[in-house]
This record gives sequence, structure tokens and C-alpha cells, in this order.
Amino acid sequence: MIPAPFEYQRADSVEQAIEVLSANEDAKILAGGHSLLPLMRLRLARPSLLVDISRVRDLSYVREDGDAVAIGALTTHHEVANSDALQSLCPIVPFAASEVGDPQVRHVGTIGGSVAHADPASDLQPVLLALGAEMVVRGPGGAVRTVPAAAFFRGLFEPDLAPNEILTEIRVPKLAGRGWSYIKFHRRAQDWAMVAVAAVAGSNGSPAARTRPPRRPGRTRGRVRPRTRSRAPSTAGSSRRCSCAGRSRRRWPDSRCRSLTTGPIPV
Ligand SMILES: Cc1cc2nc3c(=O)[nH]c(=O)nc-3n(C[C@H](O)[C@H](O)[C@H](O)COP(=O)(O)OP(=O)(O)OC[C@H]3O[C@@H](n4cnc5c(N)ncnc54)[C@H](O)[C@@H]3O)c2cc1C
Repeated sequence: MIPAPFEYQRADSVEQAIEVLSANEDAKILAGGHSLLPLMRLRLARPSLLVDISRVRDLSYVREDGDAVAIGALTTHHEVANSDALQSLCPIVPFAASEVGDPQVRHVGTIGGSVAHADPASDLQPVLLALGAEMVVRGPGGAVRTVPAAAFFRGLFEPDLAPNEILTEIRVPKLAGRGWSYIKFHRRAQDWAMVAVAAVAGSNGSPAARTRPPRRPGRTRGRVRPRTRSRAPSTAGSSRRCSCAGRSRRRWPDSRCRSLTTGPIPV
């Protein structure tokens, strides 16, 4: 399919992109284009102007910032998956990023694009919810606001973003040895999740945060049968073979998928 006609403008800075968005009502940000362009080709999205921010290089970074790790919105899934800082400080995020699509998708798609698209079938959304991550959003006049993941993902493809705002950073907490697990169920290799579950062991005795995205309409055939499985109690830092390890085709050793608390975990 061929998209409806549109104009194209490249932005050299976040400020310039916000200015252009503010002056054009149905303009849209273009980052990696791996979600937006397929929608445009299906004519499910018809922006009159694309504002390309892919060359705004100061939005591409991973860095420690106090108790958190800050990830620039334009950081690609490949860069997230291979970040040494994330692998040591918040390994569930690079693990989930390594599950996104195929190498081509991961080299072009960005974490910011995935979050701003707010597709509940994405690999990052359940992980960011379980972590209690925060999104940094910039708007006109230098306005900056920080939104917790639970408030940012308002619904299906509904991020908490005004048309003239840009997501600039995703902040994830350092896990400091807390247990975590991310399990993705999909029928075809390199596909989106039909069901995905992310869990992060709570600190100070609080229960593990667990969440899973709603099913995407039209993608699930039949019923995904809930399975319960008792898991041995684990202490932070202990490792045990995770049920997704057999399917994981990448370089993650089993010990990176840590099981969590005793009790049933629906898959
Ligand atoms: C073949 C294929 C397989 C895939 N498989 C998976 C998978 O298994 N798991 C998975 O999670 N994803 C998968 N994806 C999606 C992929 O992760 C996309 O890269 C991602 O969802 C969108 O990132 P992007 O940079 O391409 O964003 P774009 O397509 O450029 O943008 C997506 C949306 O977000 C908006 N946007 C982008 N950046 C910003 C920003 N900084 N601020 C405000 N708004 C912004 C755009 O306006 C647009 O509405 C797949 C994609 C393809 C094509």
C-alpha cells in the first residue's frame, strides 16, 4: 500500500521539532519509522507532515543518574540490548529489548518510538510498568514533565502525550540485585507478544510487581491457557533456569532470567 501524501521536515533539535509540531496540527514525529510507516501504508494514520527527529543525536544515550538509569528516546533497541550499564544495573530492560523483532528492526526502531506508540503488545511496555519507570516529556516553552509509566500508558495506542510534546527520556530504576523475569509468548519467531509477563521482585518485603498487556484485538486465535507453576523461593541474586530460556535465541545465559517469589505465575 502507498501512504497518503505528506510533507517531510527534518528537525535538528528537540526545540525545533516542538516548534514545528505546534505550528502544524496533524504533524507527527518520525523516529525509526518501524511502527508509524506501516500504519501510514495501511492508511490507518494520515499525518500531513512528518517531523524527522532521527538525527537529533543528543537523544541517543544510556547513562547512570543517581538511583536510575536514563535512556534517551532515540536509543535503538540494539543499543539498549547491548548497553553494559543496563546489563549490570537493570538487566530486564536489555533482555526485553533483545526480544524485539529481528536485528533489522532492533537497529532502526527506538525505545522512545516504542513507548510513544503505546502498543500493549510491545516488549517494553510490560517491563517499564513492572519497573515503575518514568517518562520525561518536553513541550512548548521549555516545559518538562515526568510521568510514571502507569499514568503514561493510558490505553491501547494512547500515550500521555500532547500532539506538540516529545518523549525525550525513559528512566528506569537500578535493580541492585532484585529478581526479575520477562516471559513472552508468541507463535512465530521474531513476532510481537500475544501475552507477555514482566515481574520485578519488590524491595522492603513488598510483593513483586506483575503486569501483562491486554491482548491486541485480532491477534489471538483460540485461548491462551493460563498455566500455574510453583516456583521455589529465591533470594535476590540467586539464579535458576527460567522457562523462557529454552526459547531465547540470543546470548542471554539462563542466569540472567531470575525466577521470583513462590506462587503461581500466569503465562
Ligand atoms: C517487522 C517488525 C517486527 C516488530 N516486532 C516487534 C516486537 O517483537 N516487539 C516490539 O516491541 N516491537 C516490535 N516492532 C516495533 C518496533 O519495536 C518499533 O521500532 C517501535 O515500536 C517504534 O519505534 P520507532 O522508532 O520505529 O518509532 P516510529 O515508528 O517512528 O514512531 C512510532 C510512534 O511514536 C511516535 N514517536 C516516536 N518517537 C517519539 C518521541 N520521541 N516523542 C513522541 N512521539 C514519538 C511517532 O509519531 C509514532 O506515532 C516490530 C516492528 C516491525 C516493523
